[in-house]
Amino acid sequence: MSASTANLVPTIGLETHVQLNTKTKIWCGCAVRSDAPPNTLVCPVCLGYPGSLPVLNREAVRKTVMTGLLLGCEIARVSKHDRKSYFYPDMPKNYQITQYDQPLCLGGGIEIEVNGVKRFIRINRIHLEEDVGKSTHLRGASGIDYNRAGTPLMEIVTEPDLHNEDEAFAYLTALKRILQYGGVSDCNLEEGNIRCDINVSVAAPDADQLGVKAEIKNMNTFRGVHRALAYEVRRQIKAVGAGERLVQETRRWDDEQGVTRSMRTKEDAHDYRYFPDPDLARIRLTDAEIEAWKTELPELPATRQARFVSEYGLPDYDAGVLVADKGLADYFEAAAGKNPKAAANWVMTEVMRVLSEEDMEIGGFPVPAPALGALIALVDKGTLNSTKAKEVFAVMLKEGGNPEQIVKDRGLAQVSDTGAIEAFVNEVIDENGKVVEDYLSGKESALQFLMGQVMKKSRGKANPPMVLDLLKQKLAKP
Ligand SMILES: [Zn+2]
Repeated sequence: MSASTANLVPTIGLETHVQLNTKTKIWCGCAVRSDAPPNTLVCPVCLGYPGSLPVLNREAVRKTVMTGLLLGCEIARVSKHDRKSYFYPDMPKNYQITQYDQPLCLGGGIEIEVNGVKRFIRINRIHLEEDVGKSTHLRGASGIDYNRAGTPLMEIVTEPDLHNEDEAFAYLTALKRILQYGGVSDCNLEEGNIRCDINVSVAAPDADQLGVKAEIKNMNTFRGVHRALAYEVRRQIKAVGAGERLVQETRRWDDEQGVTRSMRTKEDAHDYRYFPDPDLARIRLTDAEIEAWKTELPELPATRQARFVSEYGLPDYDAGVLVADKGLADYFEAAAGKNPKAAANWVMTEVMRVLSEEDMEIGGFPVPAPALGALIALVDKGTLNSTKAKEVFAVMLKEGGNPEQIVKDRGLAQVSDTGAIEAFVNEVIDENGKVVEDYLSGKESALQFLMGQVMKKSRGKANPPMVLDLLKQKLAKP
């Protein structure tokens, strides 16, 4: 790499497509679902039959505006939909209804943090459009499923504020978290709920304009975005260094080979021949409507984290771990009961361990939060010691059931009966004369050994503080 190319700076912008989780499609009453057989959730409107008329789903507007409010955007009081000419079998109307020059939301942004450095990534706009059908290419044939056609789709466009793959990854992670908190999308990447186009170019830091950009289309994992960007930036820097002239083009990410490949040179905006859709009225929003939606805004992660610290007395770090996933934070709150610190510990150790081992989301976790709360209450009451509590938790994970019943059925209740513990303590003292002498002559650690022996005799069920007290009493020097 020559000295002049070594300091080329990448400039990155992201266009993120987010499927809204409305019950029905954007222009018709067909259901939005991904589990139905192909072409069963369709009607003349979403199949693009001539003469069919679209009617805007107001809930899609509300969810887009909620997203705009969460991202600090300005909400347009008047916006409109436009037709974008587009010929491809996945769009039978031969145009896509989108928003061209009057989107619903403008401005706003997201704060990200990479390696301890905070940066604000500005958002240019959010517009509301329709998703297209899904083509499947089989051997020797292609099929199209129109169930997805007409699913409300938000496109969230950043300013070119990102400068490396780590920032892009952090931005997408933060965006997903906000969308989840807002409840506007299911955010399931495997289902294609979030797809992303990347614009990337490189230029000298003092250049007065950006370099020639490549667009990498249709990324459906954040990991993929990270890898594709790392590759593409290296490729462009190398090309510039070798004196090649880059062309503005659309590229495709080949995940298996780990490379981007040229697909086509980029169309300019006028090729799409945008014009206002004559079948749709302008969207008009009143201040009163927007104010009402503001009152429905959910608590965002940063606010919730601060509340977990003040309301439950959790360390800031723990609160941050819990709110990073809305489902996990909800689970914690439902389990918190009278001992939120213990609940936080259980969630951050046992629950998160199982989630990562089983590669599972909290939504599918087999132990309901109230059952974990009940288990914690049993420990607090002294019915269970912490070792036995883990045993009960393992049973709840495997077989379900409520903790009281499991403790009863398996006889796991802690022995807090002084008489029973005293008998174990006496036996242990009798059987371990040498260790007792060691302790009496000042070897403190001998006590731990004796305590272990008593716990063993009780099969782990003795109340540990009581055992310790009794041992100390019995061995007290006269
Ligand atoms: Zn339909």
